[in-house]
Parts: sequence; C-alpha cells; structure tokens
Amino acid sequence: MSDDSVDQSRADSRIPADGLDTYLRCPRQYEFAHVYGLERDDDAVDERVDLLRRSICAALESGETDAEALGEVARTRLSSLWEDHDERFHSRAQRRHERNVLEATLEAYVSRVGADHAAGIDVLASTADVDGALVGPDRTLSSRVSASPPAAPSEPSSSADANRESGSRTVSRCEPRSVAIEASVDYVYGEGSSIVGVRFVPTLAPLGPLRYRSEWDGDVAALFEDHFDPDAAAFEPGPVGALLETAVVLEGLRTLRDRLGLEGRTCRFVVIPLADRSGTSVNWVSESVETSLEIVDLTDVYIDHHTYGMTHEHRNETVETRLETVAAQLVSDGFDPSDRWDDIERTVCPDCAYAVCCQERIATEVRFDG
Ligand code: SF4
Repeated sequence: MSDDSVDQSRADSRIPADGLDTYLRCPRQYEFAHVYGLERDDDAVDERVDLLRRSICAALESGETDAEALGEVARTRLSSLWEDHDERFHSRAQRRHERNVLEATLEAYVSRVGADHAAGIDVLASTADVDGALVGPDRTLSSRVSASPPAAPSEPSSSADANRESGSRTVSRCEPRSVAIEASVDYVYGEGSSIVGVRFVPTLAPLGPLRYRSEWDGDVAALFEDHFDPDAAAFEPGPVGALLETAVVLEGLRTLRDRLGLEGRTCRFVVIPLADRSGTSVNWVSESVETSLEIVDLTDVYIDHHTYGMTHEHRNETVETRLETVAAQLVSDGFDPSDRWDDIERTVCPDCAYAVCCQERIATEVRFDG
C-alpha cells in the first residue's frame, strides 16, 4: 500500500474498537495489524474461537431455548465447520485433542449461560421488531466520536491546555471532524430491564485487574488516569483499551436499543473467553476434556456514578473524553511509537509478532554501543 493510499485510508477510517488496545500498546503494531492487515502467528487461536463463535451463534439463531436442543445445534454446526478447518497440527492426536477442547468449551457455554441467553434473545424478539438484529456473529455497533485534534500550540485553547496537562501527545492541526469507531458483539439478549451485548474473546488476560473489580471508583479510575499521565510510571494498554472499547459498545447498544424502540432499557457489555485454558482439565487416558468459563460483565467497572447520576445511562465521562483524544491521535498522528518508546520496548516488543519487519525494533537491535 502506498503512503498516499494509507493516508487516504486513514482519512476515511473506521477505527476498530478492538484495535484501540493494540494502538495503546504500540501505534506501529496497530499500523501493521489494522492498516496493512499483516497476519500474526497466533491467528490460529482466533480461528478456533471463530469456529465456536459461529457454532454458538447458529444455535442461538435457531430459536431453541432448551439447553439440550441448543447444544445439539451447536455441536452439529461445529462438526461441519471442523471438517473444513485446515489448521496444521503436529499429529492426528493433537487435532483430536483440539476438537475435544472446542467441544468441551461449547458444553461449558451451553450449560453455564447458553439456555438463559437464548431465552433472553427470545424475550427481546417478542417485545420488539428485531428483524435479525440480535444474533451475529460479529454484529457491528458503531459509535461516532469527535476526533478533532486540539488547537496548535501557537493558538492555545482550553482543550489544548487540558490535553497537555493530562499528557496527551500534540496532534497535528486539521479541520474539525468526527470518526466512526466500530465494535462488534456476537449477540444481544434481554435481561430484566437491560439489553446485554455479548462478545466472545480468546482470553480475559488483557483485562488485567478489570476481571476482579466491580466498580470504577478507586484503583480502576487511578489505573486509567495514570496510563495517560507522563509523570506516572503506569503503562496499562490492556485494561485501558478494554474500557475504551466498552464505551464504544455501550454507545452502539444505545443506538440499537433506540432503533428497536426499547428506550428506557439500560445497556450492558459482557465478554466470554473461548480459548482460555486455565479452567481446562484433560484426562489423557480417556481423552476426555472438561472446562469451565469465566464470564465478565464490564459494565459495573466502567460506570462512573457521577456521569450515571447526570444521564441515567451507563456512561463514563472520563473514558468517553479520552476516547475522543485517542481517536484524534490515531487518525492524525501517524504511528510513530517514540512517545512511549521505553514502555513499548520493555513490555511489548519482546513478544511482538511484527518485530522482524519493524523499523524501530530493527534499529534498536543493530545499534552500536559507544
Ligand atoms: S516490534 Fe516493538 S515497536 Fe515494532 S511494532 Fe512491535 S511492539 Fe511496536
């Protein structure tokens, strides 16, 4: 892709919300993954998650709400997808084992929440004209945010000052604009007075402490603000990216809710890991696998109660404002990682799949001492 076409694609850009985490980790990594679309070695895990995602969505789409029937549809779908799955395995035994793990994950999903969520989809479908809008996979939810960079230093403004104080990088000057940030959920179901968006993810590891916290106030707020504070030693792209993505998903759910005539419902966002092996046990003699699922609702840890009190929506003004700043940087600033180079080199570069083609990494590796 030429530089001109990259610039044009950025100008027309729709930012993937799950790429915000990557951008916060390293802007150059974002460029490789989301601008040039270079694949990583660990894409095999994403592909296995995708098999489960499609199987579960096929079951939810079937209208079955009984766990046994739901599981049967999902298993049948997985079986047919697996036939066409051409991942390279070391042996037939490994291929058989990976399939057993997928089937165990499917069973864990169905028995833990599958039937309840299917019933929640059914309830929502009976109260609104949903017209296929509830079950994906990958139902796109879009949030449009202001991505206007702050004024140039020669023309100070309050927003520019605010961004300097909070440690934002200076972004290049251009016309005011907005940008669409796109998140996706795999399905939406009704639960009490809420509509809930569910996203299947590989693991919960990027969430860090968000997995174990139930409110924003306290160390989650501090973690978020410290990440952007140049005087703090914090570098937390995983949880910060997850909070930014939650802002996008909840805004997209509110738009969907209003379109479906479900005003008055609150919106929630839940993630379910489908490739987390920490709860998996294997009996190698009988070749049986059992696993459990840890499900995380990111809504409570996201809500800032001050903003909630003002809007009666599940919102967080701090995160939403920061989302605009990050979006502005992403579409205006290029992908130079030098602003946070020490953090990136120390924590991200060692495991980066793009190191072999990265100019910054190569320059560091071949630097002469003295
Ligand atoms: S090697 Fe380091 S600088 Fe290069 S893309 Fe990866 S994380 Fe970023």
